[in-house]
Amino acid sequence: MKTARVQYNGKVIAAAEKNGLLLLEDGSAVKEDEVIWLPPVEPGTVFALGLNYADHAKELDFQAPSEPLVFLKGRSTFTGHLGKTPRPEGVTYMHYECELAVVIGKQGKNIPREEAYDYVLGYTVANDYAFRDLLENYYRPNLIVKNRDASTPVGPWLVPAEDIPDPMNLVLRTYVNGELTQEGSTKDMIFDIPALIQYLSSFMTLNKGDMILTGTPKGSVDTPVGAEVVTEIEGIGRLVSTVVREG
Ligand code: MG
Repeated sequence: MKTARVQYNGKVIAAAEKNGLLLLEDGSAVKEDEVIWLPPVEPGTVFALGLNYADHAKELDFQAPSEPLVFLKGRSTFTGHLGKTPRPEGVTYMHYECELAVVIGKQGKNIPREEAYDYVLGYTVANDYAFRDLLENYYRPNLIVKNRDASTPVGPWLVPAEDIPDPMNLVLRTYVNGELTQEGSTKDMIFDIPALIQYLSSFMTLNKGDMILTGTPKGSVDTPVGAEVVTEIEGIGRLVSTVVREG
């Protein structure tokens, strides 16, 4: 069963879906806009892949990497479904990145490729917003551009791994103000989920609640203040966010 984590009456509470309503853990049923949505799991260490789809690397005029290109995200950058993401003053190009987020379910180190899926709790959708003007050069890590407050919506749902038999064959789509602007498939990832779990766990312990944001396919457009951005992954969910003025 897919689950969410929301804030309602000041309390953080687990939620499920029932007949178009949110069924809260305390038994009450509420509408989706009566709660503040949070990422469906409390984020632990969050890894994000750069250029993990060859078509996106090409779109940015970058060489596709021969080894996973990974950066980390701190906790202030996360927000939930129906969240608002500030567009920094003076930025000329801000774009969404629709990404399959893999949630780790148990601790592991040196996980072999064949066992990688045993460590997956489930999946959710992430929108890893980028600010092209702030992109640091090749010799500096992605810090300023990928850790801004509320610039990584995650959710709405955690979908259990057993409900997604083939996560490497899912359609990703992004709509800006209702218009389709990005479409791809997880089958076009350069490094697939087992490769990423094997790679990361080869030098550090993965823990329950850690997440891997697996990168985005091509199809980025500028999102102005006021844009409603829907990032959607087949079978996983439809994550809505709105771009707002900073401050
Ligand atoms: Mg990304």
